[in-house]
Amino acid sequence: MSNPHANKESPGGPPGSPLERWEPVIGLEVHCQLLTDSKIFCGCPTKFGAPPNTQVCPVCLGMPGVLPVLNRKSVEYAVRAGLALHCDIQTNSIFARKNYFYPDLPKGYQISMYDRPLMTGGWLEIDAGAGLKRVGLTRIHMEEDAGKLLHEGFHDSATKSYVDFNRSGMPLIEIVSEPDMRSPQEAHAYFSALRNALVWIGVTDGNMEEGSLRCDANVSLRPRGATKFGTKVELKNLNSFKFVQFGIEHEIARQAAVLDGGGTIAQETRLYDPKEDRTHSMRSKEEAHDYRYFPEPDLPPLVVTKEWVEEIRKGLPELPWDRRARYVGPLGIKDQDARVLTSDRSLGDYFEAVSKASGAPKAAASWVLTEVLRKLKEGEAGIASAPLPPERLGALLKLVESGAISGKIAKELFEEIWTSGADPAALVAERGLTQVSDEGAIAAAVDAVIAANPGQVASYKGGKTGVLGFLVGQVMKSTGGKANPAVVNRLLKERLDS
Ligand SMILES: [Zn+2]
Repeated sequence: MSNPHANKESPGGPPGSPLERWEPVIGLEVHCQLLTDSKIFCGCPTKFGAPPNTQVCPVCLGMPGVLPVLNRKSVEYAVRAGLALHCDIQTNSIFARKNYFYPDLPKGYQISMYDRPLMTGGWLEIDAGAGLKRVGLTRIHMEEDAGKLLHEGFHDSATKSYVDFNRSGMPLIEIVSEPDMRSPQEAHAYFSALRNALVWIGVTDGNMEEGSLRCDANVSLRPRGATKFGTKVELKNLNSFKFVQFGIEHEIARQAAVLDGGGTIAQETRLYDPKEDRTHSMRSKEEAHDYRYFPEPDLPPLVVTKEWVEEIRKGLPELPWDRRARYVGPLGIKDQDARVLTSDRSLGDYFEAVSKASGAPKAAASWVLTEVLRKLKEGEAGIASAPLPPERLGALLKLVESGAISGKIAKELFEEIWTSGADPAALVAERGLTQVSDEGAIAAAVDAVIAANPGQVASYKGGKTGVLGFLVGQVMKSTGGKANPAVVNRLLKERLDS
């Protein structure tokens, strides 16, 4: 499907770079493990980290004569992902056998989908730094995972490999993008936005160390200005955001060197090796016909009714991009800030709660993005383990907004309540920290500061108005941070300008 948003000219790289001549064309295939309790065609648990071969049964071990039964929840999660990614959900789709031999696949075929996938089309919006761009999706299909070969960690690993079938039959969706990306940065932004969306809607835990999200890339180069695609190489094993970017960067450089040297690119599958930070050839790329696909005879066509799709649609949460638009529009948050706040649903939820409790969305955004993130960074913790309940931070901001306490006192209280979670209003009452806005009380402090700083007063009167900040600071200091800075400012100016 052609995508009118994908044709933006990408930058040619630094002068002298091969990217002045060659334009990268990148598509990603992402495997995402769905967060169901049981596997896709049997009742075995999907828990990660169990001892090898303890979560298996004749169905997922591929014994002869067994019959697969489709897990309804896995279909619901797949459709949920498809709806979030603007796909067309097909009423009828067909599971197919993808035949190949590998030791982690004892039955000799993987149940996948071929010419009748569950979902087609769709798109995802990304921003790799040059503004918003839509990356088109070709399809999303369901399939089962294979087992896992263990090549390391055994006394005889030098000569033998072991296989753990706990992963066999885990429910996956494969999300295939159009070749719409033009730089490693865009591929990185896409993978990251995709992970955020899938975790956001609760269909995967997105844990890349545990293999819940795995990414392969198709990379080719073409002369700048050309419309025809070059020969593509499939890059496997890009299982982190860093590896997606580095792996593709290396592959682009490798292909450019081959082409600049007058060579041709072989269609093949290459493996990115993060230890050596290079790619090496794995095998020549197989074509679809090599897999001898045919419809899975043990499963009827998958029927997903329009009613069911609508039911699933109703259960979708507000999506990150919709939430971002609401933050920027009605709430008046800066676009860049809204982006950070929606990069993680828990962070967004925290902000929402602070905003609601304080009635001050902009102040809430500013505090969450500076003070809260700073605290989390110090403690190397995620927002989910923030000790300060958002309602308490909201209450603190409400005290600032209403003028009850100064910003300075608020910062001090924040440091304290971050871990204690104490009620800021109670602390303010207990310690008499209420901001003083009474002119009479502040005037005395202002007069004292003017009397004590004749030099600064003279330079202010001589035109150096920047000195005012210093004088305001002195008054704040002498009042223990409790004076209302706006009143201090006004009174000081009244006296100095008269
Ligand atoms: Zn099983």
